[in-house]
Amino acid sequence: MNRFTVAVAILLPALLTLLSSCENRPEPDVSVKDELVIFLDSLEARYEEACIATGIANWNSYSGDGPAHLDSAKALFTGIFLDSTARSTIRQWRKKSGSLADPTLGRRLDLWERCFQGGAIYADPEISRLENELQKLIVEFTFVYGGKPITRAEVKNRIREERRQTRRHRLWRVSSQLSAAAAEKLGELVRMRNARAVEAGYPNYYSLSLRLQAIDEGWLVSTLNTLEQQTRSAFARFLQASAARLKVSEMNAWDFDISLRNSASIPDRYFPADSVFSVLHRFERSIGFPVDSLPILETVRDIPYGGLSLGIFIPTDSRFLVNPTRGKGFYATAFHEYGHSLKAVNVDVGYPILKGYEWVPGAQCAAYEEGVAELHAEFTEDTAWIASFSGAPGHVIQDYAATRNLSTLYRVRRLMKDFFFEYEMYRNPDQDLDSLERKMYEKYLLVTLPADEPPGYASSIWYVSYPCYYQNYILSSMIATQLQEALSDKFGRGKLTDTTVAPWMIEHLYRDGETVEWADRVRHATGKSLETGALLRKLSINPERLAYQDAKKDSD
Ligand SMILES: [Zn+2]
Repeated sequence: MNRFTVAVAILLPALLTLLSSCENRPEPDVSVKDELVIFLDSLEARYEEACIATGIANWNSYSGDGPAHLDSAKALFTGIFLDSTARSTIRQWRKKSGSLADPTLGRRLDLWERCFQGGAIYADPEISRLENELQKLIVEFTFVYGGKPITRAEVKNRIREERRQTRRHRLWRVSSQLSAAAAEKLGELVRMRNARAVEAGYPNYYSLSLRLQAIDEGWLVSTLNTLEQQTRSAFARFLQASAARLKVSEMNAWDFDISLRNSASIPDRYFPADSVFSVLHRFERSIGFPVDSLPILETVRDIPYGGLSLGIFIPTDSRFLVNPTRGKGFYATAFHEYGHSLKAVNVDVGYPILKGYEWVPGAQCAAYEEGVAELHAEFTEDTAWIASFSGAPGHVIQDYAATRNLSTLYRVRRLMKDFFFEYEMYRNPDQDLDSLERKMYEKYLLVTLPADEPPGYASSIWYVSYPCYYQNYILSSMIATQLQEALSDKFGRGKLTDTTVAPWMIEHLYRDGETVEWADRVRHATGKSLETGALLRKLSINPERLAYQDAKKDSD
């Protein structure tokens, strides 16, 4: 028995009462500010109940702790977001929010306006039907290799061990079986999402998704283009060195995993799996978090993700699961998930729409959420941290530090390939997507797929279940590294031991929830807008030197 079970026991009857009172709700008459406040308070009470029900349903579906009523939880949101009267009330009041002279109320209206746009698509029954159909196809698909069934994990493991390039290629091509089966439906889903976005006044669904997270589209595209240029020559050098090491004439998409297998790892024995939580607690306590009294439930369970953290009832109930993997990666995942939970339990805002629940597009910025979680995982990359929290000797840490940049570099370039493919797909779903995929491999991974290579893009569950998400992992790396630099500036080496680090994080990153826009939170915490500098410095790439070389090339 723990406090979470107690919370659920207390909440459920309240939820049921609220549900029955929601039926036959009379139309609200919202003509003055006081009525608006009452209207929003009641809308947000319903919203928070839907968030809690969805959180519990999701938790149960992964943890197996209880029945997972996902459909009835979603129906609570549908009741809110398909209500056109409430939507137009929000829209009208938001237009005059400047005259309310109440910034918090204005901010609630902003978030509600976004959530009604995101929620209408989230709750759209036709889109959900197609998403579920595709998800089922992808999850249940049986891949075949050499005439026998093979799982994704087997393909992944074999491809990083297979010595012969032609066999790696054949293994890599296995995913095209699913892509061929899913491509047409994916196209349909993309067009359907686009149609809804156009109805809402946006050029396409990607533009809408970015606007719902307050990410400036022009800034994003130009930042990622710059990052592409800044990382290109380092990546090209890695490709050359890898080809020589693997003894292949040319690197291709199926050669990266084996090339990275031996570099950039640290032996698992220095990160014993059964100590993960004690090390995590020892560290977070040392920077000032009252670990033992926080309402965070941690569980190890075999799930289809590395880890998963859910803010069930912010700020009093946060839970996370980690997949029992091994070594340093396991630690990094646990630290990342704990970072999500630390934020959830330290939000100090009374209005549910400003607490940053994750369920409805528009209610938070996922890049920021991932960034402040990754801030904690990033500690496990710090060589001083590794020295004091793992038993790894100095020379092992040095070897690791010398090669790990390659896997980060590859990851960033691969994420760019995935982002730009999806971004261009939404901009024009009728183009030849097979050749678009090919172009993206050339531009971002610097490899040329054979002319007759079957396409693989539609085998990814991300385009179905987490649409328009890839940029969040690049932005979150930028946020996490920029925040780590800010911690170093403020605390020096003390960022690993100073008990005032936690209050600093709470004040700058957690407490305000969505009261303040995410980009402003980053700026207030780090003294500058989000930029690529810290990530490049982590990769040992000096942007000033690159600019100098480019200028020199131009003048030559
Ligand atoms: Zn995360």
